[in-house]
Amino acid sequence: MDKAKQYTDDTKSVHAGISDNEHLAVVPPIYQTSTFKFHDADHGASLFAGSGDGYIYTRMGNPTVTALEDAVAQLEEGHKGLATASGMAAIHTVFTAYLQQGDHVVCSEAVYGPTTTLLATVFRKYGVETSFVDTSNTEAIRAAVKENTKMIYIETPGNPTLVISDLQAAAQIAHSHDALLVVDNTFSSPVLQKPFHFGADVVVHSMTKFLNGHADVVAGMIVAKDEENYKILRKTLNLLGGVLDPMNSFLVHRGIKTLAARMTIHNKNAQKIAEFLENHSKVEHVVFPGLKSHPQYELAKKQMSGPGGMISFDVVGGVEGGKAVMNNVKLCQLAVSLGGVETLIQHPASMTHAIMPREERLKAHITDGLVRLSVGIEDADELIADLDQALNCIP
Ligand SMILES: *Cc1c(COP(=O)(O)O)cnc(C)c1O
Repeated sequence: MDKAKQYTDDTKSVHAGISDNEHLAVVPPIYQTSTFKFHDADHGASLFAGSGDGYIYTRMGNPTVTALEDAVAQLEEGHKGLATASGMAAIHTVFTAYLQQGDHVVCSEAVYGPTTTLLATVFRKYGVETSFVDTSNTEAIRAAVKENTKMIYIETPGNPTLVISDLQAAAQIAHSHDALLVVDNTFSSPVLQKPFHFGADVVVHSMTKFLNGHADVVAGMIVAKDEENYKILRKTLNLLGGVLDPMNSFLVHRGIKTLAARMTIHNKNAQKIAEFLENHSKVEHVVFPGLKSHPQYELAKKQMSGPGGMISFDVVGGVEGGKAVMNNVKLCQLAVSLGGVETLIQHPASMTHAIMPREERLKAHITDGLVRLSVGIEDADELIADLDQALNCIP
């Protein structure tokens, strides 16, 4: 790939991060090594000074990992990437890199559960305060910002309600207060949404989801917009140690080759299924960014190049209705996680959030009949037939 040229995501998915290697292997080798030799003492010194060419130790860098980091950075149109052992390792590294005692964070209330818990427990313990607000309402962000706000942290579309936040507006608020905008871009993947185009400073991913796409690796990624932020993040990650290993980097990089192709099918399948669900008598309500009924439909069209593969819907019959669907699907699989080639279905009220008191659950917008569907790349009509027969099992 000609590095100077700006290719489309279809081409970048296949070629990004892959450069010529010793034996001109089309697929880059897996450098399964913990450490690297120096030519001589001066070479070692130059590497430690950050000026020489080469690698030192795999926690600090490894060619197989670098290839993956370059691939995601190019897809995001950011500066450089940092591969991590999980999405949570990426998020934790970003918080540790930028936050200190006395700082304040504004965070989307519709955010991945462990992100909320990390801020509300671990970082609170360290003296960092967080306001969780509905970031799909720009005024709510503006109202929550304080003198000591150091970071606005947004997940869009948000988990599990798929609300969309205006990244450009959030970036303006952040930058006018000398704060950073950090975006969790997991649900869209860089193919459907490029937060740097809207002013984000740092982008994080759980690559466990769409980027890898095959439900066989847990991994994360941080992408920095410039060298200054990259350096802060790299130093922190090297110290915290939550790096991704060469073997899993290789697997995720392999998954990314079909990213753009997969996202096209996720978009198309999810659109068809959302329209089917919207007209089903056992479905009360569907939330999907590709439906006109989505509260931020216009914003989604402006900010994203496709609606993605995630659908939330409410079935009739409350908790029992949701359970009936879970217990009768045959093609959709009952599992948490998302973004893989296989369709996964989940009913928070009877599964992930079953131990949460109902009041609290409802406050988090997790209603009794809420079902979350991660639409895979199977045949859309076969998925619809499966959902139809399962929905018709609700008495
Ligand atoms: C899964 C997920 C994470 C956490 O990623 P892990 O790889 O499980 O650590 C963070 N953000 C979002 C939006 C996710 O879906």
